[in-house]
Amino acid sequence: MNSDSAHGSIALNPSDCTSCMLCVKECPDKCIHIESHPVVTDTGGARPVTISALDRFAIDFGLCIYCGICIDVCPFDALAWVARSTVPGQERQGLIHEMDQLASDWPAQEPT
Ligand code: SF4
Ligand code: SF4
Repeated sequence: MNSDSAHGSIALNPSDCTSCMLCVKECPDKCIHIESHPVVTDTGGARPVTISALDRFAIDFGLCIYCGICIDVCPFDALAWVARSTVPGQERQGLIHEMDQLASDWPAQEPT
């Protein structure tokens, strides 16, 4: 467990996320939700390249145990700790942070 988890929250840099789903697979509480769709791009090479475009990225902080695994496993450094913006006891619905909210916390700042 990452020691930052005691007082950190999590932010997302959507432009660095490739929708690889590694964080979703490794999250022990299954509280990360990602939706994406394939986009075929012509990079000028021998054949077109298919990439995954991010449609939704959400974290349910009502379930998150702040273990930091998602941050540790992301190969693209698209997740990072930030100062906590969620107050324990908020309405459960408010604990699901969608992509816009997660991205608004980026760039990552060291928790205080
Ligand atoms: S910090 Fe939260 S979202 Fe990330 S892997 Fe752990 S439980 Fe899942
Ligand atoms: S592991 Fe990183 S790049 Fe992969 S889906 Fe999660 S945040 Fe995006």
